Amino acid sequence: MTETTTHSASHATPHAPDEASVDQIREAVRALCARFPGEYWRVRDRERKYPSEFVAAMTEGGYLGVLIPEAYGGSGLGLSTAVAILEEVHASGCNAAALHAQMYTMGTVLRHGSPEQKSAWLPKIATGEIRLQAFGVTEPTAGTDTTSISTTAVRRGDAYVVNGQKVWTSRAEHSDLMVLLARTTPKEAVARKSEGLSVFLVDMREALRRGMTIKPIRTMINHATTEVFFDNLEIPASSLIGEEGKGFRYILDGMNAERILIAAECVGDARWFTDKATAYAKERVVFGRPIGQNQGVAFPIARAYAAARAARLMTYEAARLYDQGRPCAEEANTAKLLASEASWAAADTCLQTHGGFGFAEEYDVERKFRETRLYQVAPISTNLILSYLSEHVLGLPRSY
Ligand SMILES: Cc1cc2nc3c(=O)[nH]c(=O)nc-3n(C[C@H](O)[C@H](O)[C@H](O)COP(=O)(O)OP(=O)(O)OC[C@H]3O[C@@H](n4cnc5c(N)ncnc54)[C@H](O)[C@@H]3O)c2cc1C
Repeated sequence: MTETTTHSASHATPHAPDEASVDQIREAVRALCARFPGEYWRVRDRERKYPSEFVAAMTEGGYLGVLIPEAYGGSGLGLSTAVAILEEVHASGCNAAALHAQMYTMGTVLRHGSPEQKSAWLPKIATGEIRLQAFGVTEPTAGTDTTSISTTAVRRGDAYVVNGQKVWTSRAEHSDLMVLLARTTPKEAVARKSEGLSVFLVDMREALRRGMTIKPIRTMINHATTEVFFDNLEIPASSLIGEEGKGFRYILDGMNAERILIAAECVGDARWFTDKATAYAKERVVFGRPIGQNQGVAFPIARAYAAARAARLMTYEAARLYDQGRPCAEEANTAKLLASEASWAAADTCLQTHGGFGFAEEYDVERKFRETRLYQVAPISTNLILSYLSEHVLGLPRSY
């Protein structure tokens, strides 16, 4: 996806908790994460198993409903609190990829759904009774050029018939609902290619019996990602969210929040790598002194620390603006760029600091190193963020 809106399309101003309350939330998240140490993640990574116990614990703790307003059963605490939660998850050595979508995918329903859709789904999403973890946008041939997707949804009476394929639909096997983007009017029949796309809330439990199939993709990380195929899948017309043909805009409306939350995960990772590298550099003695006494070892860690601090400031600034309903696309994109680069620099430094032991599974460095690399590609690649800043912030000519 190539653009983001300049406004956060805010629905209700969250009641932001004070700093002391956020500190308590952070502490509680860290205590929960301590129950899921490196060994837990190592086993799941090796076996490519979904971390169901961790997802259940975070759900029971109420952490996944923080963006859902109280009126729908969530805590309505806002994005800054969600950022704090995801940062702590990652700083504790855990990984939020299996659950973060439950926090924010519902935003499309919240902002653009009908009153019936909101009251039917949001309270159940808030408790975790219903899992809305799947987001079907990317397709194999269109890639980042989202308006070129070829999955279609054709209206037939009281239903839409869906045909096509999605790729990289993460957590599809662990979700009850999917937010699906499909073309409802052919590209040739619309004035702008961003028109004629629509968003649906698909009940995957039904769809699996009626023409939808899911095929897992094995990747270098344990990410539960999949390909999803639609073969004459009939979904009720009431699955449409908002107006037909306006779906691309609805998807863009969710991008700022997603970028800020992913930036928070990167900041958490960067903290974990820096702490881990620092501890090892103090303790590992070679040539009769701690390796951290060598500036060639210490300086890259100090540099990674500084980059993570700067990225963190931008991330919290973006979240603050978002919570106030103010324009934040520049900050959201910049935060995602800086944080993903900071986490990768910290990962590389941490691995280098550990020398050969960085490659041993039991140190968790190689796993986190693989995991944090993702953020420069997904949910949006670095080049596309730079394109956004070049065109929409600096006013340079559009490149594509
Ligand atoms: C593990 C994983 C999980 C994912 N989960 C989901 C999910 O749940 N739902 C979903 O819908 N998608 C998901 N994605 C897809 C993800 O959003 C895309 O992979 C990402 O947006 C990049 O798209 P692409 O892979 O098609 O790359 P492409 O669009 O093919 O691009 C390839 C490379 O070329 C560069 N490039 C392309 N065009 C330009 C240009 N004009 N200027 C400069 N550089 C350019 C890109 O930056 C990129 O580096 C996931 C991906 C992964 C790997």
